[in-house]
Amino acid sequence: MANTRYYVLIKNEKVPVQVRNYQNSNSVKLYFKADTLCISKPASLNFSRVESIIKENENSLYDEYMKIISTTNLESSIKHWVTGEKMLYLGEDYTVKREHCDLQKIEIKIDVEKKQIVISLPNNLLDEKVIKENVDRGIKSILKNNTYVKLQERLPEISSKMGIKYSYFKVHDATTKLGSCVPQKKSLNFNLRLVMLPQRAFDAIIIHELAHIKYPNHSKEFYEYIKKYEPDYDNIDKWLKENAKRISI
Ligand SMILES: [Zn+2]
Repeated sequence: MANTRYYVLIKNEKVPVQVRNYQNSNSVKLYFKADTLCISKPASLNFSRVESIIKENENSLYDEYMKIISTTNLESSIKHWVTGEKMLYLGEDYTVKREHCDLQKIEIKIDVEKKQIVISLPNNLLDEKVIKENVDRGIKSILKNNTYVKLQERLPEISSKMGIKYSYFKVHDATTKLGSCVPQKKSLNFNLRLVMLPQRAFDAIIIHELAHIKYPNHSKEFYEYIKKYEPDYDNIDKWLKENAKRISI
């Protein structure tokens, strides 16, 4: 019994395959074991014949695969960037749509209308590790840019409403903190994942960090001051803690 593993493309989706050849079999069986398409077939049957059977059943196999992928990855915070996976963006669940195309390099687009993260991969890029590394980097760079643009819009407005001036702000990749402040310099740091948050939470982080310029601690006065600008701060803070796993890539 030979046991080889490779991939097949089902509607541009790269699906792991496990093939088992049986000497005494005369039928072909296709079934999923986790995210792998298992194929048992007569040893004498050419794999191209199997490929045409897959092609004939493309729609149902695709649907089944998508269902498996989306449920197995929903709970995890580590992204594999496969179709059906969810990523928080602007406070909502966006769905990853991954496809292989005739491209030279990876393209990533965030479609706000369809609430999709569209990842287009070159046809010859099949190594999962390389895909993950490159897409992680690409997504981070998009988040960083979009967080920056949003801060440029919200920060001056909230700063003037609170009457607190800052010197400059930076957006960087932090693992836990969403924001920080150096009161002596009046400088602010924000996590590149900020754009993943709902609007109110995004603003609440800005309010929190700006307030540190006036109160460089987490005193009672500090929180009372914050609540002048966001009365629902406690609930937002609770939401942020409960959703910490979702605010990660
Ligand atoms: Zn703080």
